[in-house]
Amino acid sequence: MSKSLEFLTEALRRLPGIGPKSAQRMAFHLLQHDREGADMLSRALQQAVSAVHHCALCNTFTEEEVCDTCSDEQRERHLLCVVETPADQLMIEQTLTYKGLYFVLMGRLSPLDGIGPKDIHLEKLLARAADGLVTEVVLATNFTNEGEATAHYISEMLKARGLRVSRLARGVPVGGELEYVDAGTIARAMLDRRAT
Ligand SMILES: [Zn+2]
Repeated sequence: MSKSLEFLTEALRRLPGIGPKSAQRMAFHLLQHDREGADMLSRALQQAVSAVHHCALCNTFTEEEVCDTCSDEQRERHLLCVVETPADQLMIEQTLTYKGLYFVLMGRLSPLDGIGPKDIHLEKLLARAADGLVTEVVLATNFTNEGEATAHYISEMLKARGLRVSRLARGVPVGGELEYVDAGTIARAMLDRRAT
């Protein structure tokens, strides 16, 4: 195989769930059938990598210093909702029941995968939650084992600093990932959230 082709295959293998066979198939496909798509992919990647970074306040993806949600004057600044991913944030937004601000972990604690407190930006969350305006932190991590463990860890960390913490109510099924739960269920879980 040519050096360049080998390099491309190696690069494609960086994608989650892509093994050597799939990476090779993708590389052949792009070069043989979709050169225009390959060019688009390479430009889009380059642009996103240089332009997109994390919001200084909530940690979500943005091209600004502070994202649109955090800059929105209409949001209630005393409520801070902690979610695992931007997709989860979007799901909560769609319920139209929550008007506070967010913190996006960009992951969850997962000791088996070597993901610890540093990897989910808990120091940034702590600084954010202790800004003097936030009076309640709502934990909306997934109802999976890892999501529950993450919620527990964050709850202990924030309560030790005197912050009020609540957790989405059950109603979201056990093992449930917010991204795949209907908006009505999440809305109810948000309204029925309980202190931890
Ligand atoms: Zn933000």
